[in-house]
Amino acid sequence: MTDGNCLPFTTFDRDHYPALLSPLKVGRFRMSNRVIMGAMHTGIEKLDHPLERITAFYKERVDGEVAMIVTGGVAPSPEGRIEESAPVIGDDNDNAWHRAIVDSVSGSSTLVCMQLLHAGRYAKIPECVAPSPLKASINRYSPKELSVEDIRSTIDAFVAAAARAHELGYHGVEIMGSEGYLINQFTAPVTNLREDEFGGSFENRCRFVLEIIRGIKARLGDRIFVMFRLSVVDLVEGGMSGDEAIKLAKLAEKAGADIINTGVGWHESRVPTVAHVVPRAAWAYATAKVAAAVACPVVASNRINDPQVADELIASQSCDLVSMARPLLADAAFVSKARAGRAASINTCIACNQACLDRGFRHESVSCLVNPRAARETDFVVVPAQERKCIGVIGAGAAGLNFAFNAAARGHQITLYEAGNEVGGQLLMARNIPDKSEFDEMLRYFRQRLVDTKVTVHLNARPGADEILKQGYDEIVIATGVSPREINIPGMTGSNVLTYIDILRHGRDVGQKVAIIGAGGIAYDTAEYLLGDLTTKPEMKEFSSEFGIDLGMHARGGLVTRTAVGAGRRSITMLQRSPGTPSGNRKAVTTNWIKRDRLRRQGVRMLGGVAYQRISDQGIHVSVEGKPQLIAADTVVLCVGQVSERTLRDQIFAKAPASIVHLIGGADQAVELDAMRAIEQATLLALSI
Ligand code: SF4
Repeated sequence: MTDGNCLPFTTFDRDHYPALLSPLKVGRFRMSNRVIMGAMHTGIEKLDHPLERITAFYKERVDGEVAMIVTGGVAPSPEGRIEESAPVIGDDNDNAWHRAIVDSVSGSSTLVCMQLLHAGRYAKIPECVAPSPLKASINRYSPKELSVEDIRSTIDAFVAAAARAHELGYHGVEIMGSEGYLINQFTAPVTNLREDEFGGSFENRCRFVLEIIRGIKARLGDRIFVMFRLSVVDLVEGGMSGDEAIKLAKLAEKAGADIINTGVGWHESRVPTVAHVVPRAAWAYATAKVAAAVACPVVASNRINDPQVADELIASQSCDLVSMARPLLADAAFVSKARAGRAASINTCIACNQACLDRGFRHESVSCLVNPRAARETDFVVVPAQERKCIGVIGAGAAGLNFAFNAAARGHQITLYEAGNEVGGQLLMARNIPDKSEFDEMLRYFRQRLVDTKVTVHLNARPGADEILKQGYDEIVIATGVSPREINIPGMTGSNVLTYIDILRHGRDVGQKVAIIGAGGIAYDTAEYLLGDLTTKPEMKEFSSEFGIDLGMHARGGLVTRTAVGAGRRSITMLQRSPGTPSGNRKAVTTNWIKRDRLRRQGVRMLGGVAYQRISDQGIHVSVEGKPQLIAADTVVLCVGQVSERTLRDQIFAKAPASIVHLIGGADQAVELDAMRAIEQATLLALSI
């Protein structure tokens, strides 16, 4: 059992990020720096060998010098489970799990904190409960209203859970009071219609959580620290006002909370809080108000992925600590690299949500697009190569790059050929899409890894098969990517027909009226780019007015009327063969809706069930439900998928032994290609070759 954090501080080089890397006292505990790894539900428990996996996952972050780890949510009582299989405190089967987590910080200065989460009406189980019997829009089950007796026993369950966490060796507990879970359902008038001592007035609505905090402190004193995750902005109509949130922070501190963490937005909110459209540190305006009102340490969270930004937030007293969840999936060594002055080598979270939140919402175990080892450390074992090989890699897109530096890091000698004048492949297009400036960070990291691992890079290089074979490489890796798929419509060779690559990569001129053929993620991205009202870097002024965020924090829920959006700079019609609305990237459950909403608000017309007949100077002639019509367009854009680049690949396969030739990324499989799959495949090959 770990009881207390009695280890001396690591000696930091304070030249780098002095505020971020300075220690902090929390209750009787000391944090070695200001970085908390926020609670994440990884889904590791569903995989084989979960104990080894969870230990390896956390241990790697501990070795990366994170100051505190907060576990995924554990329910204090069975009806508070977020889903049937979610962990509940007191379940003896889970003791080994908790020991594995606690053991992962053993012998380090990292604190470990159990998050206690009662899902209330968000629990996806028939026996879910809530302050009032109001069904959440995101749950098919209606909650049962808690009686006063039920509420009292739930408070006791929280207190007992904290005591159990202490017995298990946790240094602290986080009382989850944000994101619309049970405690938040009590504090917000919209979900609390009670007329007894737990509803009505602000004081009554806050009684539930304050009694939990008081109860834990009364039972455990300073043996454990209590972090309260306050919903500083609910982002739902009828939520708490900013004044109430600040008042609650003060009351929680008085009740005994040692740290106030700040959460933003309920799960049913229609305002994005962590996606790439959200500016970095967007919610610091709210956290700063709490920090000014209380004496205990306050934590800022959401969209903080850069040590400079984090350092400035702390130095300017907007907060005392920063919570990072996804950035520590992207790079377990975030803190140690910052300390060592190697920020350029940090693998930055690009806020895409693809491998983390999207997978979580699909009930899959999570990982990270830019770091496929995340939460799969025991599958992606990195060991030096037994035999140093000379390897030629053709193509420096996401797949080629990741193969090159991962294989070089194991000791192989890598030569990378790129036909363009810079590395990046399709990532160079992605960075041009509105709000996707974080892709620049990904490219910066990839370039830095090439330098760090001494990969030899040849730009503007288009070697033929004979030239490659002449080098006598031990292995040849083909990562030549994809080219746009063509479709057979009369008129498609006309000068008014472009592909998405012509536009996003080569900046070809596009007319005012545009018809886009295709309905997937690339079609959405291309439409957004052509509307042209947003820069690649999201800005707070535009973000807050687009989503109706009250930066003054006066309105209930922190929301005001959204600013009406004018029509985009172009008139765009999106077309797809199958019936229904062009869907975008269906797998991107946490971000696709944002794009669709934007396109609609800017007047993009979406047509499904379209049969294409021909393209002319006037646009594209189609029939919809058997009725012919002309979609007038100056430019017709093809976003109908992609095919593998085959020329070089076929030539090399014809001349080289198949056993030394490897295909990765789009060159291997173009259907539904995305950077996540390409990076994962390339990394696995690099670790096995
Ligand atoms: Fe960040 Fe995307 Fe990785 Fe999630 S998948 S941690 S959002 S980079």
